[in-house]
Amino acid sequence: MSEKPFRVLPELTETTRHFWEGGREGELRFPRCQECGTWVHPPTPICPGCLSKDLAVEAVSGTATVLTFTLNHQHWVPSPDHPYAIAIVELDEQEGLRLTTNVVNCAAEDVRIGMRVQVVFDQYEDVWIPLFQPVEGS
Ligand SMILES: [Zn+2]
Repeated sequence: MSEKPFRVLPELTETTRHFWEGGREGELRFPRCQECGTWVHPPTPICPGCLSKDLAVEAVSGTATVLTFTLNHQHWVPSPDHPYAIAIVELDEQEGLRLTTNVVNCAAEDVRIGMRVQVVFDQYEDVWIPLFQPVEGS
């Protein structure tokens, strides 16, 4: 029996594999336009900034800011951790580069808008799910 909470795992495709497997090397990865430097998420084949098709997967720093969050008190899935914080975080690299994620390793009641967070990975089978924890000292 695993003690980990149940998660619905994403399906790995050629356009999402870099994202879900980046945690193997501790990297949060997104496609980035090689012409103008725009990070592209969710993945599209064409840069929304300059319409270039020259995209390559690169790693971001993994630090981010909590834009908004909600505390989930509903037991939608079997999990020992309730309530937990579902947050939208914005990566430092680019305005609008956002992920919906969970804030972990702190009390859900302590999550705040504007909180500085950094990525941590939770591995399930061949998927590394990016979660975020508070940056120490923030
Ligand atoms: Zn571009």
